[in-house]
Order: sequence, then structure tokens, then C-alpha cells
Amino acid sequence: MLQKPERLIVDGKRLDGRAFDELRPVKIVVGPLHRADGSCYIEHGKNKVMAAVYGPREVHPKHLQEVTHAIVRYRYNMAPFSVEDRKRPGPDRRSIEISKVSREALESVILKEYFPRSTIDIFVEILQADAGTRVAALNAASVALADAGIPMKGLVSACSVGKVDDTLVLDLSKEEDNYGQADMPVAIVANTGEIAFLQMDGHMTQEEFRKALEMAIDGCKQIYKLQREALLAKYGGLENE
Ligand code: UDP
Repeated sequence: MLQKPERLIVDGKRLDGRAFDELRPVKIVVGPLHRADGSCYIEHGKNKVMAAVYGPREVHPKHLQEVTHAIVRYRYNMAPFSVEDRKRPGPDRRSIEISKVSREALESVILKEYFPRSTIDIFVEILQADAGTRVAALNAASVALADAGIPMKGLVSACSVGKVDDTLVLDLSKEEDNYGQADMPVAIVANTGEIAFLQMDGHMTQEEFRKALEMAIDGCKQIYKLQREALLAKYGGLENE
């Protein structure tokens, strides 16, 4: 367990030296898994996340089929070795909730009506967790969907914002997440400006909420740029073929 620091902001700086509106370093690898239809590996600070997409493919069990559109399934899973105190393997309330809200965010962009009677299955494995895993997972899943060639309205790009020592900060570190006053993960569809996902843990005033949302949207746009660059690095040349 991390020791509770006396303060999370010292001399106008965060404990890891970042500015209030600065993301942790993000690395995106497109298509590392060859047996999946699409995949993506993301390192976001010390978080390490792998996403794999299968489909569109036939639905099993068949009674889940929808005649007008594809169903989308999303499984967020934290590996037992991903956290400091070993996590009990298998689903728990937290992972079931994260899977549900993340699926809903991605369903809002996937053009499901193109694939009646099919399923699009998204698996996200958290290999190392250090706060902000649900947003890193969404970012990886969104790129993996694009890698699988699934038609979408746009990419979903996510990051968190929060309040620590009465100050709004972007992309909470583990200490800020554990000992801060509020944590708000947000996802947007960058090319339409829609909000695809928003959760809040803790308390903010209305004014703080408005400012926090602005900061989060800025952070999401930075993530979008990195997702786009990673996809273009793999697929950009295809335009000329
Ligand atoms: N965490 C943990 N064990 C758990 C769940 C979470 O150690 O069973 C840690 C992990 O580092 C995670 C952080 O707590 O990233 C914050 O968890 P939260 O539920 O806020 O979700 P996240 O910020 O990862 O989306």
C-alpha cells in the first residue's frame, strides 16, 4: 500500500513533477496480437494494457443474436499480478461495472447495424495497474477496433481529471487517485465532440466540474492525436497503394 503523503501538491507542482494539465507519457502499439482481428497495446504512465478484438463473427449462444444489428461484448479484466496486493482472479463488481460502462461508450460509435446477427467481442487485460486503467483500456479498445476494421463514427479517446489538495489536475497518478478529493474519467468522440463516457467519484463544485470537464476534453484530444498517429504509422501508407 502506498504511504499517504502529507501533501499531493508541493510548491505548485505535483509529486511526480508534472504540471496540473500534463498527461503521463503514453505509448501506443497497433496490432501486436496476430490471432486477434484487431489489437492494441498501451502504456500510459505505469499502466500496461492489452486489448484484443474478435469479429464481427457469429454469436454464441445463438439466442443472443439481434436481427437488426451486431451485439458488442466488452470484458475488462485485471490480471492478479497487475496490482500491489494480488487481485483475486476473475470478475468482481468493479470489473463488471467498468465492462458495462465501457461497452456502452464504444457502442455509441460502432456502426452496429452493418453486422446483423453478429458479435463484436472486445477483451481488455490490465497487465499492470497504476490508476486510470479504465481510460487506458478504452483507448486501447478503440484502437484495436479500428485495427480490426470495424466501422465507427470516430475513435473514442479517454482520460481522467481530478481534484487533489483543492486543485484540479489532469490524469491522476496512483497517489492522487488514492488520496485525492475527486476522480472523473471522461471519454469523447474527438471528431464529433460528443461525450461518450463520464463517471465521477468524490466531490466538486459546479464551477470546478465545468473547468475539470474542459481539462479532461483537452486531455482526450491529446490522446486522440496519439491514437491517430499510431494508426497512421501502421495504415497511413495504404492510402497510396
Ligand atoms: N486497484 C487495485 N486493486 C483493485 C482495483 C484497483 O490495486 O482491485 C488500483 C489500481 O492501481 C487502479 C487504481 O487502484 O488503477 C484505481 O482504481 P479505480 O477503481 O479508480 O479505477 P481506474 O482508475 O484504474 O480506472
